[in-house]
Amino acid sequence: MARYTGADCRLCRREGIKLFLKGDRCYSDKCGVERRPYPPGQAGKRRPRDSEYRGQLREKQKAKRIYGLLEKQFRSYYELANRQQGITGENLLRLLESRLDNVVYRLGFAKSRDEARQIVRHNHIMVNGRRVNIPSYRVRPGDTIAIAGKSKDLLVIKTALISSEKIEVPGWLEVDIEKLSGKVLSVPERDQIDAPVHEQLIVELYSK
Ligand code: SF4
Repeated sequence: MARYTGADCRLCRREGIKLFLKGDRCYSDKCGVERRPYPPGQAGKRRPRDSEYRGQLREKQKAKRIYGLLEKQFRSYYELANRQQGITGENLLRLLESRLDNVVYRLGFAKSRDEARQIVRHNHIMVNGRRVNIPSYRVRPGDTIAIAGKSKDLLVIKTALISSEKIEVPGWLEVDIEKLSGKVLSVPERDQIDAPVHEQLIVELYSK
């Protein structure tokens, strides 16, 4: 499947905030946003023109980049959120948060969502006792997510667990570090999703 292969730090610099795409580096003084706090490219230091459209576009791009999605995937999440009952923007964030790769990251089993996606794709994750290798798999309340048998010894997971001390597990999830497993306690509420996104602007953009 196609995916963005450029430098992650450029994405953060474009949005002007840390999107935490690279694990440990994001917490160090090597962070691209801290070293070069202006957009990438030749026009980077020029002040961009403000416009309503630009604000909406940037929010959409930011959300897409946080969850590592391409436009088509992101748009399908929006369409689905729009068909659901309730507030479309909140539905959208809830759907994004419920992706299996995001949950693996939130539980602290991976240092970034990108790494979590690899772990899922490589068959290291079990949901309710069965292997699932689809990063977009949507978890539901009551689901248990665990690192599969021998995968518990993988170096990538051990180092992620050490780094994950910096990440707080959200209240809608519960983690058991000894067993390397977690449980989905509930559907995430908006205040339990710490993505720095103004979701209403995304809805306004797509509603045009
Ligand atoms: Fe973004 Fe992390 Fe790179 Fe900093 S180090 S710019 S937070 S990806």
